[in-house]
Amino acid sequence: MLFHDAMCICCRMRTADIKYRRGGIGICGRCFSRMPKTSSTMSFSGEKYVDYVISPFYYAKHLRAAILAYKFNGAKAYAKVFAELLKDELEPIKYMLGGFDMLVPVPLSQRRMNERGYNQSALIAEPLAEFIGADYSPDALKRVKNTRRQSGLKNYERKSNVLGAFSAPDNVKGKSVIIFDDIYTTGSTVEECAKTLKGAGAGKIIALTLSITDRRLITPEARLF
Ligand SMILES: [Zn+2]
Repeated sequence: MLFHDAMCICCRMRTADIKYRRGGIGICGRCFSRMPKTSSTMSFSGEKYVDYVISPFYYAKHLRAAILAYKFNGAKAYAKVFAELLKDELEPIKYMLGGFDMLVPVPLSQRRMNERGYNQSALIAEPLAEFIGADYSPDALKRVKNTRRQSGLKNYERKSNVLGAFSAPDNVKGKSVIIFDDIYTTGSTVEECAKTLKGAGAGKIIALTLSITDRRLITPEARLF
């Protein structure tokens, strides 16, 4: 092992061929070349309250392993690597994202926060907000209900699980909002967040996620670009 080696958060190999290095971790060239990319310059359509969803990667292959370790094995430091990875992918559409007022991470319940010790979406969202030029607004949404873990539920159960789970205590009247989450699966969570923000007077709302599951039959559409 050489001094300049770092560990790849996707395959866990140590190598000098590393991108987005932050401290002793990053993404190796091999994993980076195999990243399951969507096209971040194209958007997925939202459901009802979310206009569209930008997700640069599919929740698949080695990226999935890295996200799971980040969320469930306490690999908090991965946040910085994910943020750098996203910045690179979002660079071509940065000008468009910069038109939004606020970047709001999906909040965790107090119970989940106590278990995990960090909000995985917030840690990635904060450096992204600075990059985009939107206000980082972690308090614009609050969890008011302890919900069951979405990942353990069937698709049809997810919507009711998050129903009424959020409140929007701050003044969001007329604000355009980007909601940030780590994974977009059925969209139930970000739709419920958007519904809550709209109810508090927010304007245009889109979602930005690190990854999107490809189990859902989604048609990428170039609505904007
Ligand atoms: Zn790797």
